[in-house]
Amino acid sequence: MEIPLTADIIELEQTYVAQTYKRAPFVLSHGEGVHLIDADGKVYLDWVAGIAVNALGYGDAELTHAIQRAAAGLIHVSNLYHTAPQARLAQMLVETSFADRVFFCNSGAEANEGAIKFARKVQYEKGLVDKTQIVCFTGAFHGRTIGAVALTPREKYQKPFQPLMPDVIVADFNDLDSARAVIGARTAAVILEPIQGEGGIHAATPEFLRGLRALCDQHGAVLIFDEVQCGMGRTGTLWAHEPSGVTPDILTAAKPLAGGLPIGAILMTEAVASAMHLGEHGSTFAGGPLVTSAAQVVLRRVSQPAFLAHVREVGAYLIERLAEISSPLIKEVRGRGLMVGLELTVDVTPVIEAGYQQGLILVNAGPNVIRFVPPLIVQKLHVDELVTRLTTILSTLPEAAHA
Ligand SMILES: *Cc1c(COP(=O)(O)O)cnc(C)c1O
Repeated sequence: MEIPLTADIIELEQTYVAQTYKRAPFVLSHGEGVHLIDADGKVYLDWVAGIAVNALGYGDAELTHAIQRAAAGLIHVSNLYHTAPQARLAQMLVETSFADRVFFCNSGAEANEGAIKFARKVQYEKGLVDKTQIVCFTGAFHGRTIGAVALTPREKYQKPFQPLMPDVIVADFNDLDSARAVIGARTAAVILEPIQGEGGIHAATPEFLRGLRALCDQHGAVLIFDEVQCGMGRTGTLWAHEPSGVTPDILTAAKPLAGGLPIGAILMTEAVASAMHLGEHGSTFAGGPLVTSAAQVVLRRVSQPAFLAHVREVGAYLIERLAEISSPLIKEVRGRGLMVGLELTVDVTPVIEAGYQQGLILVNAGPNVIRFVPPLIVQKLHVDELVTRLTTILSTLPEAAHA
């Protein structure tokens, strides 16, 4: 097979694909563990994992075999029929979380859309037809669909697409007084990320989560945790809210759940699930046997205590090593497990571009934060490699910034 030239592929993309993405200037060809290899054979150490998706890295033998076996059996049948992988995955998700039931969908945004519908139906079933308001927070990211983007208060994402879903109120993240001022009789649901990802790696304090739980209980509102990015072992516990001791009524999961195949899941209590009846929500593709077979492998592996301990250990080492870098450009290192942000005093774009030169795959979270969300199988030696290269990049950055 002839290997297509990088320039040809980039030209095809720029000619035929709608230009909504700013892509890195190379063409990825394959991967191995925590490394990605481009069409020119250049090897990159991956600190992005397809945006916090590829928890088991690339070429995992068990995941690959499970997908191959499932694909040779059934890829898709729709939800008109029962299949074993979907039922088994639902059981696993319930047994490893606060939840009693699961609804499957195909992405993070779709999971949040569904969560909004479930929450509103909870109120509707009680006859509270005006209790429709959704409270979200500054810095949040919940997805790009019209409902999810309405809960994502950023002008660039919202303004050109108005009117969005109405009846949304934004309160200040980690500010309980601000939340208390807006949560009330008309609040159907409160949604937040226990650790904000796209917003720059900001953790909700346990007090904030506890306060929101109490406000939701007081006003009969549904508490939704969006763990699309921070869930599934990313922070060193299976679910990011676990250390706080606060449980939601609904949790949304997606990114890493099927090891790179598209999936979303809405985990919920029986009280929420019982508000929805046959035919009131659905999806053609959701929970298909191929993706749910893959997800069983990922969930089984990621939920093992030794795996989670590895995430905590390497995550703590990453934070420690990043904090040791001596550079006037570094403002703060923060995060938990393998969800870490390095905030700089300057725009991080030149760092990410220099990273590509140095064989590092990096991504930002907002203008000033480099976000580290690697495959969860990353090792300390990879942290050392990252820190060496990053130190070099940061020490030469003033030139890069002026170039
Ligand atoms: C990525 C993300 C989403 C959206 O997921 P998609 O699969 O891109 O629709 C929602 N919430 C959070 C916290 C995310 O990080």
